Amino acid sequence: MSLLRPNIAAMQGYIPGFQPEDVASWIKLNTNENPYPPSPKVREAILAELGNNGASLRTYPSASSQKLREAAAELYGFDPSWIIMANGSDEVLNNLIRACAAEGEEVGYVYPSYSYYSTLAEIQGAIVCTYGLTDDFRIEAFPEQFQGKIFFLTTPNAPLGFAFPLSYIEEIARNCEGLLVIDEAYADFADANALELVRKYDNVVVTRTLSKSYALAGMRLGLAIARPEIIAALDKIRDHYNLDRLAQAACIASLRDQEYFRESCRRICETRQWFSNGLRAIGYSVIPSQANFIFATPPDRNGKRVYDSLYSRKILVRYFSDPLLSPGLRISMGTRAEMERTLAALTEIG
Ligand SMILES: *Cc1c(COP(=O)(O)O)cnc(C)c1O
Repeated sequence: MSLLRPNIAAMQGYIPGFQPEDVASWIKLNTNENPYPPSPKVREAILAELGNNGASLRTYPSASSQKLREAAAELYGFDPSWIIMANGSDEVLNNLIRACAAEGEEVGYVYPSYSYYSTLAEIQGAIVCTYGLTDDFRIEAFPEQFQGKIFFLTTPNAPLGFAFPLSYIEEIARNCEGLLVIDEAYADFADANALELVRKYDNVVVTRTLSKSYALAGMRLGLAIARPEIIAALDKIRDHYNLDRLAQAACIASLRDQEYFRESCRRICETRQWFSNGLRAIGYSVIPSQANFIFATPPDRNGKRVYDSLYSRKILVRYFSDPLLSPGLRISMGTRAEMERTLAALTEIG
């Protein structure tokens, strides 16, 4: 007799992007990390929190992360009761499913998008329903009334990089009986976001992460914005010390340094534009991106060939073997110098 629940025994588990040991010898464009360091204030805040001998680590961190909620509330224009902080947005995605979808209930998301939703739903024993995309990037056959418990909408979409128009997201919110979770992991690189829908619709949650736009993937910091009833539920089920002391210090310092943040995002978007144009000039088709990566397809539609050629030059990008995505590659934006070398390599590879 198995000791495990059958759904756990049967599931495959999420496979994160490859993190090479000798990271410094690669141009690493495979997991949408930020090529620039976080604000210098982050290092200062972490060192200050540590003090001389690290004695602050003896005691538990704030369980409520109240100061972070206040900093985020001010930044996004909500009351702190509308915000919950998380150990990466992955944690809050997990807790949203745990809060809303019981065994046998339906969880929906768009394919392709973030496959971790599916892993989380499988852990719950929920039923996963995926919806494809039409050629003009709308959800294929989205029901007039989605009756599942929770629907995840990643916008800007990963791995394709396009963003759904706000009016369309609003339509989805109205047609969704369950919770609509708008995963805005990349919204800081986009022209628009869906925060106003949180105020307008009871069932809308927006999730954000500091991993990409704030260059803090290594600290594990994310958040959700939703009505206080939903936030209170998430608050009950999270680990009570979900954010460690150093992460809390880093979070406040980083959210407060908006000037640094905006400049870092601006440079990434500028590089994205330059690199997209450069790829188009050598015959690639590139989906216009609102994120810190692009999805690009070479003229022979052989993503694996180009992936391997880049790999042998120590440039790491993301290839997906799925037939829908295998013609192309997802390429994160590095520094301008890294992208110049990548474009030169791609020109040579042909
Ligand atoms: C990176 C990413 C996340 C996870 O963010 P963390 O805060 O690092 O856990 C969630 N959703 C999408 C779509 C992402 O790309």
